[in-house]
Amino acid sequence: MNAKNYIAIEDKYGAHNYHPLDVVIDKAKGIWVWDVEGRRYLDFLSSYSAVNQGHCHPRIVKALKAQAGRVTLTSRAFRNDQWPLLAKEICTLTGYDMILPMNSGAEAVETAIKTARKWACQKKGLAQDTAEIIACRNNFHGRTVSIISFSTEPLYRRDFGPFTPGFKVIPFGDAEALERAITPRTAAFLVEPCQAEAGILIPAPGYLKKVREICDKHGVLFIADEIQTGLGRTGKLFAYEYEGIKPDMVIVGKSLGGGCYPISAVLADEPVLGVYKPGEHGSTFGGNPLACAVARESLRVIRDEKLVQNAARQGKYFIKKLKTIRSRHIKEIRGMGLLIGVELFPEAGGARRFCEALKDAGLLCKETHDNVIRFAPPLIITPKDLDWAFDRIKGVFAAEEYS
Ligand SMILES: *Cc1c(COP(=O)(O)O)cnc(C)c1O
Repeated sequence: MNAKNYIAIEDKYGAHNYHPLDVVIDKAKGIWVWDVEGRRYLDFLSSYSAVNQGHCHPRIVKALKAQAGRVTLTSRAFRNDQWPLLAKEICTLTGYDMILPMNSGAEAVETAIKTARKWACQKKGLAQDTAEIIACRNNFHGRTVSIISFSTEPLYRRDFGPFTPGFKVIPFGDAEALERAITPRTAAFLVEPCQAEAGILIPAPGYLKKVREICDKHGVLFIADEIQTGLGRTGKLFAYEYEGIKPDMVIVGKSLGGGCYPISAVLADEPVLGVYKPGEHGSTFGGNPLACAVARESLRVIRDEKLVQNAARQGKYFIKKLKTIRSRHIKEIRGMGLLIGVELFPEAGGARRFCEALKDAGLLCKETHDNVIRFAPPLIITPKDLDWAFDRIKGVFAAEEYS
């Protein structure tokens, strides 16, 4: 079968809830992927930062295979020997007291929302069903009904109501707006330290620090969604570290599973995650030994291969190089570590056609919203491979200038 056959089958039998580039991948290793016709591409998206450690990392695959042959699922009705070790290791690494494991990012966000509500009832004495959570305009926290209830993207919401009450939306990057929005019923403020899906929107320096002060002053939980920005992507273990602060709850997912297995989690200190009693929340696959063994090795790879430091170093190097491209289409180049956005002017005709051209040149990236190209290679990338990518990007923009 060739690529056309696979695409036809997918389009006939699969729901059309995505608009993928027409590259059918059947093999991957490190920063590279191959399509069914044997063409090689550099992965410049990393599955939305879920393969930060690179595709099929030998150590992570080895841990996966070894655990798959031992025990994969116990449910939390019984205990297993991997979950306690992941819990201890990730708490030691991040400096939080406790962790609650789930599977997808959206489930972990749901867990953070439930935790904040329960905390507000128990610790702030809020009446049942009155807690409010504040989120930001242009947020992306996942696709469940409750999460899209506070999305401001019409595409994510249309025809999916009725929605979950109890959310308020304020502008991103505006600490004063947060302070104005807080009421005695506010349980938490949920925010991405950098809005990746919205187009790599980076708040002004000092924003998260002010958020921390405001949340402290009003007794409101500060929840950072680091599902995409966390575990090294932005050049720090967590993006909030740039501001020298610590949120009350951190949500992780994506590369916690090293691109091999879905796992997500909420991290917090005991006064927050300690609110749960048996039976109040759970997940059949949450904390399963296969996911935990994979996550433990994924974290060790991040540490041993110094991926956080590499993201910082290579991100700086690449942004500097990108800024040398002269093109009438480029409005702004911005980024944190290896989370980089190239914003095009609306007149450029949309980021999608540039992503198609880059694909033909051997570089896989994806537009985010209409006018931003996201560059997010695996964090194992070297300057030599970034140079290879840069030549392709420069070539695509150069071809535009003369067309
Ligand atoms: C990807 C993502 C999510 C949702 O994760 P899923 O695993 O797709 O449910 C939530 N928040 C952020 C910031 C993300 O990037």
